[in-house]
Amino acid sequence: MQNHAISTPMQSVPQPGYRLVPALIGRSTDPGVIAWVQCPDWCIVDHIESRSVFLEDLNHEGERRAMTFTPSNGPRVLVEVYLTQWPASHETQTQMAVDLDCEVETYGRTAGLALADQMVAFAADVRRVALALPDDKPVPVRNQADEALRRVRGGAA
Ligand SMILES: [Zn+2]
Repeated sequence: MQNHAISTPMQSVPQPGYRLVPALIGRSTDPGVIAWVQCPDWCIVDHIESRSVFLEDLNHEGERRAMTFTPSNGPRVLVEVYLTQWPASHETQTQMAVDLDCEVETYGRTAGLALADQMVAFAADVRRVALALPDDKPVPVRNQADEALRRVRGGAA
């Protein structure tokens, strides 16, 4: 953090659920300046490591929850869900981001819960379809549970 101009914290007492953290602002070719920003408790972004060119570009992100679908052909499809907040945006409220293979849509609480309900219903459908299958045959080399686990974890063959 040496060679960075440091601004004094604008507000020394953060609002409840937030903490005051340093953020590095400026182009990667510049030394940058340190601004003190209110960062929500759920944010896992290191605002020094993840510098923003402008203070308005700064965003907060929570821990990502992920699931991967692995088709037999084609690339894996990654779905991630996390909390996000853009303090300088027109929508400053915390949102739930759903990142579907790098296409991100944000949801408010009601829409997020509706999405979760849809996924629970879909999971029940997946279970019903799977239960309609005959029992697994024993596989001598690599069993299907290991194979499914490998696919879920996204490991290579
Ligand atoms: Zn943050």
